[in-house]
Amino acid sequence: HKADIRDTLRPLYEVISNNSSSPVIRFIRSRVERMSERWKRAGQRWKQSSNETVPLMKVLLFPGALAGSVGQRFEAMVNRGGPLGELVQWADLSGCLTILGHDVTFSTSQHRLRSLIGAAPGRGSCPIQRPLTFDLIYTDYHGLAHLQGAMGLAFQHYQCRFRILDSFGTEPAFNLGTYARSRGYETQWGSWSLHPLQYMTMFPHSPDNSFLGFVSEEAVKDEEPGSESSKKDKIAVVYGKQEYMWQGKSKYLEVISEELETHATVYGPPGHASSLPSFIRNHGLLSQEDFLQLLQRTKVFVGLGFPYEGPAPIEAIALGCVFLQPQFDPPHSSENSDFYKGKPTTRQITSQHPYAEQFIGKPYVWTVDVTNRTAVQQALRTILSTEVKPFTPQEFTCGGMLERLHGYITQQNFCSKSVPTWPPESALRGHLGPLGQSCVSVCQRSALLCEPALFHHLNTPAAFTRLGLDCSSTVQDVNHLFPSYNPWGRHCGLQQEPLLFSCAGSDPSHRRLCPCRAHLSAQMPVEPDCI
Ligand code: UDP
Repeated sequence: HKADIRDTLRPLYEVISNNSSSPVIRFIRSRVERMSERWKRAGQRWKQSSNETVPLMKVLLFPGALAGSVGQRFEAMVNRGGPLGELVQWADLSGCLTILGHDVTFSTSQHRLRSLIGAAPGRGSCPIQRPLTFDLIYTDYHGLAHLQGAMGLAFQHYQCRFRILDSFGTEPAFNLGTYARSRGYETQWGSWSLHPLQYMTMFPHSPDNSFLGFVSEEAVKDEEPGSESSKKDKIAVVYGKQEYMWQGKSKYLEVISEELETHATVYGPPGHASSLPSFIRNHGLLSQEDFLQLLQRTKVFVGLGFPYEGPAPIEAIALGCVFLQPQFDPPHSSENSDFYKGKPTTRQITSQHPYAEQFIGKPYVWTVDVTNRTAVQQALRTILSTEVKPFTPQEFTCGGMLERLHGYITQQNFCSKSVPTWPPESALRGHLGPLGQSCVSVCQRSALLCEPALFHHLNTPAAFTRLGLDCSSTVQDVNHLFPSYNPWGRHCGLQQEPLLFSCAGSDPSHRRLCPCRAHLSAQMPVEPDCI
């Protein structure tokens, strides 16, 4: 069977009902409906440009964060300013897979999961596992635990079919259980020993993981400046759905309100006395549709520093707003921030939204020291005197997401243990990094991309010689920094465990050997039709 691009989302509506009493399901369904025309158009364009035959996949979507007791807590918060980013991603993933023509099943029920994956009650506590009928299972960290409970021993056998939605990413050092436990990288979430590319992130944090992304509003092309839909009122909207996010920010907000009328969309229960500054006009939590309409006439979208790395700033920029956000100096990380503590990453978060800061930047994104009144004032004045057109990075359009997901589905196969054959060695640009730098940044500094599939070409004594290194000793070991060079003693290290090849790893006493390659845009590593 082959997957044919669909011109309807009807099969998805059958699995995500519109009369569900669950606010989570209602949010996902209404988002899919709102975006359906864009999905269909992108599907038709894709169909015209590609005549590849793609095998039909039977896919299960099981968002574990929405199941069981964790799910109940999540549900309770949806209409009270709780996180919505995950729901945005699940909605877009289900729409995208449906348009690509695959057979999608969606469930948030732990009970139903057992029958879907073919686990039948066996003797005693041992379930009987019938062969798994799904080619792919998209889940999250919570869902992995549910699947393990339901599948028993079959879990290991089928884990190569799993894909994990993991907003902030999982670095290889935290992923490999034995290594994480022995080297102090054990965290609340990691240690499942999957292939690092099985983790799918919200933003392109590191090529060690797959960048799944989501779909933002799309900038209207060819829009006349000054046309009705591009008209901006002199207003700012503050990014932060819950009051606690506003604590300690009153000075910063005061400066903003001196320059623009300042609005908010903060949740407050009925009869609640708001603690927001009196000069803020609060609309209360808005439906996604109303929120986007408010952004349409907004000039500045104001970040408070939390939530980190969400979808809203990308939507705001697509609707013609400028995003003003706090710079973090020193950067936030799992070492100093309660939010990142226990997350399987060493990433250093240099602002509320590092993707917006690094991949978009001025004039759309201003990253400032918000404790410096003059800096904020100057930024605002420049923003107010500049006309900025709506902008959507290609990777956050329906077409971008279709292309990426199609690439992953046809090219990624973690059930075969063979050495990757794509990209070819000719794409390799080997770089020797300075001490302390990861290959993510080494490659980025040369406008290239770290490509983990090319590491094995650098993992040989000859590769050290080619890079001009003279090794006094060469060891082969299990170490997420290898291949690398230690200039004190001229020690060279070769990697013994392919699961530990890591673009993200860095250490002050190691110079990394980095497999960089050219790339077309931030649209991440999918294989173009020809290279
Ligand atoms: N959003 C909304 N109503 C609001 C504010 C935001 O529906 O009053 C939506 C917004 O369009 C975005 C989603 O909430 O797509 C997630 O927003 P955010 O960036 O705040 O990420 P989160 O922290 O919720 O994951």
